[in-house]
Amino acid sequence: MSAKTYTYVDGDRLWSRLMILAEYGKRPDGGVDRQTLTNEEIAARGQIVRWGRELGLTPFTDVAANLFLRLEGTLPDLPPVVVGSHIDSQPTGGKFDGAFGVISGLEAVNAIVSSGKKMRRSIEVVAWTNEEASRFAPGMTGSCVFTNKLSISQAEGIKDAAGISFAAARDLVLAADDRVALRDMGWPIASYVEPHIEQATRLEEAGVPIGIVTGIQGTRRYRVTILGEPAHAGTAEREVRRDAMLATARILTAIDGEAARIPGFKFTAGMVNVKPNAPSVVPQEVLFSLDIRHVDDNAVDEIDAAIYRIVEREKGRCDAIVKEITHAPSVHFDAIVQSKIAACADALGIPHMPVFSAAGHDARQLSYVAPAGMIFIPCRKGISHSPEEWSEPEHLSAATQILAELLVQLASE
Ligand SMILES: [Zn+2]
Repeated sequence: MSAKTYTYVDGDRLWSRLMILAEYGKRPDGGVDRQTLTNEEIAARGQIVRWGRELGLTPFTDVAANLFLRLEGTLPDLPPVVVGSHIDSQPTGGKFDGAFGVISGLEAVNAIVSSGKKMRRSIEVVAWTNEEASRFAPGMTGSCVFTNKLSISQAEGIKDAAGISFAAARDLVLAADDRVALRDMGWPIASYVEPHIEQATRLEEAGVPIGIVTGIQGTRRYRVTILGEPAHAGTAEREVRRDAMLATARILTAIDGEAARIPGFKFTAGMVNVKPNAPSVVPQEVLFSLDIRHVDDNAVDEIDAAIYRIVEREKGRCDAIVKEITHAPSVHFDAIVQSKIAACADALGIPHMPVFSAAGHDARQLSYVAPAGMIFIPCRKGISHSPEEWSEPEHLSAATQILAELLVQLASE
C-alpha cells in the first residue's frame, strides 16, 4: 500500500466474485444469459445481498427492483455517494458488461470497510434494473424510474415477448429477495460513479488501462413510412408509378451523403419492411428505421433537419411520414468528478486518458440528477454482448483501486 492511498483493493477477491457472479445464468460457451428479472437474476441478487451483509452493508430495493447495498456514514442524513452499474445481461452476454461495475463497487467498499476509516457520507452500491433492454424495451428502466424520466406505472405496463409484464416479473423478484427492505425512490445523490468495460478499442489500441469518460454520444431514432401504390411490375408505366421502395432508396442515399460530410457521423437504417414484398408488384409501402449519432449535438441537429428536407424532396409521388421515436442529446459528465478520477489515478501512478462513450449507460440518467462520472477499462478487441467478452484482471484491479480512493474522497466531503 502506497503512502498516498487509504485503501487496499484485493484483486483476487474482486476477480473471484466476478467469476462467481458469472455462474448465475452461465452459458455452455462460457458466456452469461442473465436477463433482467429472471430466476437467474434472482439468484445473482441473493449472492450480492449475502456478500453485502458479510461486510455489514444493509440491502434495500424499490418498486423498480433496483438493488442497493448501503454502507452507513457517520452523518447518515447526508445524500450518499452511489456507485455501481447493472447485473442483467443480453441473452448472449459476457461476464463483464454491467457486472464489473457492481462488483468493483462492492470491492471498493470492502476495501474501505477493511481500512477501518469512517466516512461522513453513506456509500451505496447499486445494481440498476433492466439496463440491457433485451427482455423489456426500452432499457435502463431502473435508472429511468429512479430519476423520474419514466413513471413506475409506465414501466409496469411494459411486456416481454411472452406477454409477461414488468410488474409481474418485478413482483416475483421482490418476493424472492431475502428480507430486503423496500424504499422510496428519487432521494438525492451526492455523486454517482459507474465503472464499466469500454466496449470499444481506443484504450486497448492506446495501451492505456483507464478511460475517464467525458460523456455519452447522443442518439436520435426515427421510423419513416413511405406510402405509394401497388401496381403491375410489367404493365405500370414509370410516369404513373408511386414506388415506395425507389423513394426509400433515394432518401437513404441522400441522407448518407449528408452524413458522410461530417467526420465521425454514424448513420444506420437497420430495419426495412416492404409491403406487399412481392417480386412482381411495385412496392406499396415501406417502413424503415433511421438511427443517427454523433458526439456533437449540433451535428445531430443538422442531420435531423436534413432528414425532413430530404424526405420531402425525394419522396416523389409518394406520401411520407417521419416519426421521431428517441431523442437523447449527448451527455457531458461532471468536470469535477472527471478531474477527481484523474487525480486518484495520478496518485496511484495509473495511466489514464479521456474517452467518449459511444454506447448508452445508466450513468446517462444519473447525470441528470447528480454529478456523475464513469471509469472505463479496456475489453479485448472491443467485443461485448458476447461470450467472448474479456477484460484483464489487472485492469479490473486498477480501476477498482482508483474507485476506492475516489469514494473515500467523495464520501468525506
Ligand atoms: Zn452495461
